[in-house]
Amino acid sequence: LKEDTIIVVLGASGDLAQKKTFPALFTLYRQGYLPKDVHIVGYARTKMDLAEFHRRQTVHIKGADNPEIKKKLDEFTGFSSYVAGAYDQDASFQALTKHLEEIEAKYTSKDANRIFYMALPPSVFTTVATHLRNNSYSTKGHNRLIIEKPFGKDLQSCREMMTALKAVWTEDETYRIDHYLGKEMVKNLLVLRFGNAALTPSWDKNSISNVQITFKEPFGTEGRGGYFDEFGIIRDVLQNHLLQVLSILTMERPVSFSAEDIRDEKVKVLRAIPPVAQEDTLLGQYVGANGKPGYLEDDTVPKGSHCPTFAATTLWIHNPRWEGVPFILRAGKALNEAKVEIRIQYKDVTQGIFKDISRNELVIRIQPNEAIYIKLNLKTPGMETRAMPTEMDLTYKRRFTDAVIPEAYEALILDAIHGDHSNFVRDDELDVAWKIWTPILHWIEGKSGPAPIPEPYPYGSRGPKPLDQFIDRYGYKRTDRSYSWPVTNVA
Ligand code: NAP
Ligand code: NAP
Repeated sequence: LKEDTIIVVLGASGDLAQKKTFPALFTLYRQGYLPKDVHIVGYARTKMDLAEFHRRQTVHIKGADNPEIKKKLDEFTGFSSYVAGAYDQDASFQALTKHLEEIEAKYTSKDANRIFYMALPPSVFTTVATHLRNNSYSTKGHNRLIIEKPFGKDLQSCREMMTALKAVWTEDETYRIDHYLGKEMVKNLLVLRFGNAALTPSWDKNSISNVQITFKEPFGTEGRGGYFDEFGIIRDVLQNHLLQVLSILTMERPVSFSAEDIRDEKVKVLRAIPPVAQEDTLLGQYVGANGKPGYLEDDTVPKGSHCPTFAATTLWIHNPRWEGVPFILRAGKALNEAKVEIRIQYKDVTQGIFKDISRNELVIRIQPNEAIYIKLNLKTPGMETRAMPTEMDLTYKRRFTDAVIPEAYEALILDAIHGDHSNFVRDDELDVAWKIWTPILHWIEGKSGPAPIPEPYPYGSRGPKPLDQFIDRYGYKRTDRSYSWPVTNVA
């Protein structure tokens, strides 16, 4: 760990900085993970004095009424300062650099490491990255650039952005965040898959019938529809988060845990996936129900928009391990519950002694309430010999009562401080991800013929009506309805 480090947050006046970046930095500080002589410098156009910056920096941090946290907060703001400046003027960045050098002059070592976190809209990514490289690059230590999605809107725009950024920052200096890669259960996939001989032999087309990766959100755009409408649910969730989960779930065993070995395997499996086909796609848009407004009733949404707020798509992997196994990725807003899970459904056991017996399922609950459970058939306890579906359950809150599961942003910022790229998206990963999604996105936007009309679904429902039929088409068989979960066990 390099002790003499400044973390510069650009766009420090914004939503992401206040809600995610600063709270994550504070937790890392409180837990003793930040470098010893760390400084945090906010940068944005908004003019504000130091007190106002500190107020905004800490506004989303909980627990300030606790004296221990209050003390830590005072220390945290004590090494945080702010510089106001433009995003497109050399002079502004030179003023920022002067401020950084004043801090660095007090360091005991000759090191001056700088981490630049761009919490900015994509329209200014390139210009800010270029000005930083030209004016604020440290010559006495490492320089790192952290950036957030969206990385373009399709293959071409992504390539344009990457080319412009790579002209100034090397791949090794760049850390592209997909915050799903910072989630505990996603990071766990590597160990679960490759650390368990019991699972290894069944992890392929011979045993697995189908896989679903599901993202469900119980609320709509709620006044932020203008932003959402430009992107739609596929760019918002499937192209990045769910595809990242899919790649770790299906990749071959990496040679080591090093960042490049892991990312090489992810890219390899992604390259075996052809672009998503229209016939493998179901789109939906929510309509008002139970007193909740429909998507088109959000005033910030363009009138008559056909933007999908729900999508189910089936991906195929053409390699010897996965040929023929459907991977259903689905995500939607304004649904009946909040959950993100992976559901791996195994094939039927040989019939004969059994008839209509439920299939095994391995469910990995990413959020909320992290859990891994496998649905197994057991003999009904008692005098009968009938099989019944039940589960072997590993609910995190029960199994790891004292464990503190870090927020994704905490884990990722710490990785960037340590220079570990494993959980960041490499340039070729992005390129191949966009190849998978670009044709279907262009179809949805009417760029390759008439745009499809999404199926309406009521706010608060499980999704569009044809969803269950869509999933059945790929061989999914729902567990015997008599299966139930003793809810009292869940925290
Ligand atoms: P934001 O609040 O809209 O923008 C951040 C700051 O950038 C603003 O405070 C503003 O600062 C400046 N800014 C805003 N619009 C600008 C414009 N048109 N031109 C130049 N500067 C502008 O954005 P955000 O929600 O924090 O998101 C930042 C980045 O993270 C985006 O790429 C976003 O897609 C991504 N992201 C956000 C979230 C989230 O939870 N918000 C989650 C995942 C990814 P000044 O006016 O003071 O300069
Ligand atoms: P489930 O809720 O029965 O869902 C299984 C699958 O069936 C999902 O793909 C679901 O889709 C679908 N489905 C749900 N309702 C449907 C309907 N009316 N028609 C057609 N398909 C439907 O999940 P489960 O794994 O069998 O578990 C049952 C309950 O026990 C769940 O609430 C689960 O959280 C709980 N459980 C919890 C733990 C734990 O926390 N450790 C362990 C075991 C079980 P959708 O996703 O679209 O609803």
